[in-house]
Amino acid sequence: MPIGAHPSTAGAPHAPLPQRVLLVENSRAYTSMLREAIEDALELPVEVAATLADAARLLDAQDDWFLALTGMVLADGDRDRILEFFTARRLPTIVVSGVYDEELRKRALEQQIIDYVLKSTPDSVDYLVWLIRRLERNRRIGALVVDDSLSSRSFIASLLAAQGYQVSHVADGSSALRAVESDPGIRLCIVDQEMPMMDGIELTRRLRQLRARDRMAVIGVSGSSDPNLIPRFLKSGANDFLRKPFSREEFFCRVSQNIDQLELIGTLQDLATRDFLTGLPNRRNFLEESERLLAKAGQEPVTVVMLDIDHFKRVNDTYGHEAGDQALRAMAQTLHRHTRRDDVCGRFGGEEFCMLIRGLDRQAAIDHLEQLRRDVEAMDIPIDGGTLRITVSIGACQRSPQFPTLHALLTEADRHLYLAKAGGRNQLRGLTDGD
Ligand code: GH3
Ligand code: MG
Ligand code: MG
Ligand code: MG
Repeated sequence: MPIGAHPSTAGAPHAPLPQRVLLVENSRAYTSMLREAIEDALELPVEVAATLADAARLLDAQDDWFLALTGMVLADGDRDRILEFFTARRLPTIVVSGVYDEELRKRALEQQIIDYVLKSTPDSVDYLVWLIRRLERNRRIGALVVDDSLSSRSFIASLLAAQGYQVSHVADGSSALRAVESDPGIRLCIVDQEMPMMDGIELTRRLRQLRARDRMAVIGVSGSSDPNLIPRFLKSGANDFLRKPFSREEFFCRVSQNIDQLELIGTLQDLATRDFLTGLPNRRNFLEESERLLAKAGQEPVTVVMLDIDHFKRVNDTYGHEAGDQALRAMAQTLHRHTRRDDVCGRFGGEEFCMLIRGLDRQAAIDHLEQLRRDVEAMDIPIDGGTLRITVSIGACQRSPQFPTLHALLTEADRHLYLAKAGGRNQLRGLTDGD
């Protein structure tokens, strides 16, 4: 049962998400500092209102509002009116206040206000930028709540929805396993321990067989005071644990920390496995993936391909290095488009690319690579003040008893690439009988 905070976008991940941030505040200095920080760091459009009347006008004039930040002292509203104004409009809201007021803090957090931030703390602007970035990204993250108690799972789901996640909830372990298996967008699972049939620890263990710790965070929850529960959850593969009852704030902090960590690991993985310029797998990653695919391929045909852009030095010399980079990106895109689901491609280095194709016999591989060669030839690559064209030479080799290993296949493909260059460039060698 999806209950995302933005139901209109939950089923359509590519629909544009609301972007606009509203700042309601009467202190000019703080407002302009905050506005600049949000626009610089997050590239979200910010609009500023000094009064509730201004805010109402702005809100009515546009409809893609993502979030409001509001002070608690405005010329036309006291704190009750201000809170009521935003809750009535159902706009996710962060209170940014000049004075600490415990009673207000409690009420604000009860009223579905996302957070209450003190202006006077030295890091408040940094914290707000972090918080807004978190809320913005949460909208693309699936979260699943597994709890046999309807009230408990609805409560947790509502907390997650308030933080922008695309939330769904289920009542038992087997439904949870099915949901995770069928939806790769689920990156966060909140798992209750006390459930009939399959308890949370057992579920966590099984979830881990479906998705690793660096792909999905699992957080266990339980009301039990059993001291063994936390280590058991963690040893079964949970990233974290929360004891019921917990406050909204505690929940938010823990969940955010775990999601931040997933993203950080993802970034580090990308840095280690992707080529920075083109976004394609780098050489090391290509070689690792290819070894894996080769082992998995069994008896099906495997073709290893080396591609090298023709006279690329001339592109740099004639149009400049920046245009050269643009050509490399365009080449990478076309190569990526011709990389089928179970195949892999990469940037081998410089202007050399590589590919491993599974399941195509000799003639089908020729057709596939000839199409790729023609598509490269036909690209109009946009550069400063015009377009440029490139061609590519291709050497390929199919696996056979003579070329059984990745190393042998690459060496042979490279030899044919050299022959393609010598034969006049812009051609494929290695798969026809004459080669
Ligand atoms: P051939 O047809 O024989 O392959 O000629 P070529 O000019 O493509 O080959 P060569 O190996 O002489 O030159 C490759 C050039 O690729 C030289 C190098 O400056 C350029 N190059 C390598 N990496 C990059 C890069 O990341 N960006 C840009 N702009 N150029 C690069
Ligand atoms: Mg339970
Ligand atoms: Mg080269
Ligand atoms: Mg070249």
